[in-house]
Amino acid sequence: MEKLLILTHVDESGAALTKASLESVAAGVEFAAALGAELTIGIVGAACEAASNSLAGTAARVLVVAGEAFAQPRYASDAAACEALCRAAGATLVFAPESSRFVRVMPGVAFRLTGFVDTHITALSKGDTLEATRWFYRQRVEAVLHRETRPWFLLLEVGTREPWIAASGQVQVETVPVVLPELRTTVTGIHAPKQDEQTIRPEAKVLFVAGAGWTKKQADGQVHAVEAESLILGFLHTTDASLGSSKSLVDQSGENQEVLKFMTHMNQVGQTGATPRHPKGLSTCCHGEEPHVVGWRFINERRAVNLDPNCGWARGKTDVLYVADAFKVMAKVNALLAERK
Ligand SMILES: Cc1cc2nc3c(=O)[nH]c(=O)nc-3n(C[C@H](O)[C@H](O)[C@H](O)COP(=O)(O)OP(=O)(O)OC[C@H]3O[C@@H](n4cnc5c(N)ncnc54)[C@H](O)[C@@H]3O)c2cc1C
Repeated sequence: MEKLLILTHVDESGAALTKASLESVAAGVEFAAALGAELTIGIVGAACEAASNSLAGTAARVLVVAGEAFAQPRYASDAAACEALCRAAGATLVFAPESSRFVRVMPGVAFRLTGFVDTHITALSKGDTLEATRWFYRQRVEAVLHRETRPWFLLLEVGTREPWIAASGQVQVETVPVVLPELRTTVTGIHAPKQDEQTIRPEAKVLFVAGAGWTKKQADGQVHAVEAESLILGFLHTTDASLGSSKSLVDQSGENQEVLKFMTHMNQVGQTGATPRHPKGLSTCCHGEEPHVVGWRFINERRAVNLDPNCGWARGKTDVLYVADAFKVMAKVNALLAERK
């Protein structure tokens, strides 16, 4: 009989499990039932009592590794915690969220347990045994994997399933002791850009893509980069949308052309950029060429604004193409959003 362990960790508040952890819990509950496996859930955090109640209704055995050393992500303490949880559960299968905290420790934990780890898992299914799906070669080749090696660790991509919703009630937990190695790293805090400076927001409902058209000469023969910046930032501030870009726009900084200062290569979407996951996407001043649109693979509802009725988006790549001036459209959209607020 398989023994399935879900590894989870608390969020920055320390009092709740991360959304990504709860997605892994939902996967664990579903596949423990499908495989007839024994289900255990492990939690890592400074104090795990409050967070453990979000597991009510899973009917799982809940193990916790708690203490000040586990308040912050750190390789040595997190790897020791995950190893101890795997050993206590006797796990043959381990699901964990592909969070920055766990992605860096899980290969090491798998090595310590002479197991095998697969990363970037986007879907799970049950054939004769458990099967895991992931993409290779920048989302062009989809593979379905199964392995005989145990324990088999699967890091589940964030945003690929609905999180577990707890029933009401208290959860009984068992504390697992951990012998910590010498800790050479002291976590003193997190340096991160302020929320309104951060334009890449993986949890956003909408992806807003800006293309090179925003910095091209417009009908009056002039470039309107300052106006473009204010329209784009205005939209991002009111909607909390995530900002994506075409390659042409982010490449311009190297070509001494007018640029949007808040845009970096990190925003680039496409074949040589990112493949973000958002329910909706709005493309503006972007031509919609294949190397760009391939990065929209996981965007469910797509709309585009372009002056050119023959642009790439018009060829079945968007649900709605507005043949219009994006400067005018976005000014109107921002005005309507401001009225609503
Ligand atoms: C190997 C390879 C890999 C690549 N990888 C990527 C990638 O990862 N991501 C990526 O994005 N590209 C990638 N590209 C480049 C890609 O092929 C395109 O060149 C690029 O996406 C074009 O960017 P763009 O649409 O913003 O610019 P442009 O092609 O210059 O299009 C600008 C658009 O803006 C429109 N426009 C101008 N003014 C307005 C206005 N006022 N209102 C509305 N519309 C307006 C124009 O009609 C035009 O369609 C790659 C290319 C290669 C060869």
